[in-house]
Amino acid sequence: MSICSRRQLLKTAGASLAVSLLGKNLALPALAQGAAQPAAGPFTLPALPYANDALEAAIDARTMEIHHDRHHAAYVAGLNAAVAGHPALAQMPLDRILRNITQVPEAIRQAVTNHGGGHYNHSMFWQIMGPNAGGNPPAGAFADAINSTFTSFDMFKTQFRAASLARFGSGWSWLVWSNNRLSITHAANQDCPLMTGAVPILGLDVWEHAYYLRYQNRRPEYVDAWWRVVNWTNVGMRFNQARQA
Ligand code: MN
Repeated sequence: MSICSRRQLLKTAGASLAVSLLGKNLALPALAQGAAQPAAGPFTLPALPYANDALEAAIDARTMEIHHDRHHAAYVAGLNAAVAGHPALAQMPLDRILRNITQVPEAIRQAVTNHGGGHYNHSMFWQIMGPNAGGNPPAGAFADAINSTFTSFDMFKTQFRAASLARFGSGWSWLVWSNNRLSITHAANQDCPLMTGAVPILGLDVWEHAYYLRYQNRRPEYVDAWWRVVNWTNVGMRFNQARQA
């Protein structure tokens, strides 16, 4: 690399660092008011694997920011608060807690259901989406399973859409692996399929907080747009893991 191009590279890197710092500073005052208190505890908020505006094809940046930085953060804080004073639970992986939710002490079971489910579901939600991801449909064994279970990818999407619209009020629609087969379901609130012995492969958050800024009451438009940002590579990996477990 020539000195000139290296200097140019450093200059560019410096400029983008300045932009990202500026962006952070600008975001802080807005966040400080509604942000969840960072609670000490074993569970932590994972960073978004892309920028807030990376999913604009379906979800606007402001919704992503509030959804991740406030709603998801509040579930993490709530889960940490729930397991405080329960050291065995605090050391347990979250998926194991949810699979064994009936073993969680009754006094905190609902809080762990709500906040633990919320933390698990949202951590998954960020991963199964990606910028410009929707153009690559399911492939391999996952595509075969979709086709044999639902006739075709289009029929799968039609049924998943119907489940997303059938959920009255807040909740999620799910593609799950259970009893060695795929199926579509929907559930209220943050109830996680792990609690019923199923493995979530794909989930769509249909709480109003997930879409209201751009779509208001038009949940069907949100569901239809969402396919543009589904990361089928990640979903296919989840299918393979579930099938081999
Ligand atoms: Mn949500």
